[in-house]
Amino acid sequence: MIKDRIIELTSSLPAGARLLAVSKYHPVEALQEAYDAGQRLFGESKVQEVVAKKVQLPADIEWHFIGHLQTNKVKQLVPFVTLIHGVDTEHLLKEIDKQAGNCGRVVECLLEVHVAQEESKFGFAPADVLAFFSQERYKQYPNVRIVGIMGMASHVVDEAAIRSEFKTLHGLYEEVKSKYAPWFKELSMGMSGDYRIALEEGSTMVRIGTYIFGERVY
Ligand SMILES: *Cc1c(COP(=O)(O)O)cnc(C)c1O
Repeated sequence: MIKDRIIELTSSLPAGARLLAVSKYHPVEALQEAYDAGQRLFGESKVQEVVAKKVQLPADIEWHFIGHLQTNKVKQLVPFVTLIHGVDTEHLLKEIDKQAGNCGRVVECLLEVHVAQEESKFGFAPADVLAFFSQERYKQYPNVRIVGIMGMASHVVDEAAIRSEFKTLHGLYEEVKSKYAPWFKELSMGMSGDYRIALEEGSTMVRIGTYIFGERVY
């Protein structure tokens, strides 16, 4: 049951780590059940879907956006989103900054970093993240606060390979935080299949869907 999963996960988290319940493609009844078990952070990956769900659920939910965000959808998301996890281009950052300015908000974001072996269309290389901060390019986006990084490990069974990718993400996070961005506070990594390893490697937020809600029906 959803309720049992939430309680089990929440009670096993180390200090300093939080659970994001990834509720994409699941009906509002499932989210309500998680909410009733005490869950308040929900992650969605489609703007239309989160906009529709938000009005049917309690107002104290924190909505996080975890998918690939298209620039033409930013305007609808920015008024209420708590954290955008997957900022993968500076072009997107620029649009978030513009729309956040228009509604008088400073929106918290994470840069998505690509470390997995698989070819991915999305995410910054670690070197690009370091350059972005050493050149203080974030200062061009005053309505955005980049509070950390987000990453995904490869879909492999080799636990050592997954662990090594999480270590790379954690190392990058610590380097940026210590050299350039002392305000860093979130290292978003770990999903249903690998969240235990991610927590051991310093994750501050695990994004768990399937383990809580079951398989998604697309
Ligand atoms: C869907 C998704 C998740 C959740 O994955 P599960 O394997 O269902 O736990 C986590 N992070 C991102 C970025 C996702 O798109």
